[in-house]
Amino acid sequence: MICANTECNKEFEPKTHNQKYCTDECCRVATNKRIMDKYYERKAIRNGAARPCKKCKAQLSRYNKSNICSVCEKSLSIENRKKIMGFLNEIG
Ligand SMILES: [Zn+2]
Ligand SMILES: [Zn+2]
Repeated sequence: MICANTECNKEFEPKTHNQKYCTDECCRVATNKRIMDKYYERKAIRNGAARPCKKCKAQLSRYNKSNICSVCEKSLSIENRKKIMGFLNEIG
């Protein structure tokens, strides 16, 4: 069995069937690394890693958690309202 800690990669004799790391320390290091990877990924988004708007391709604000920019979001809601108004006029 090879230690699942990529920085260790040592061969070891597992004591339990689900042991993935040679030592508790390796387990801790690998878990920390996973958490830090997630953290840096989120940090990159917050720092403005390029995320284009789905509709107009404008770069999204780092505070924007949706896939489209605020301008498109607004025009979309206006469009929806127009649709509803048109519908109401038709039946009215
Ligand atoms: Zn190890
Ligand atoms: Zn947009």
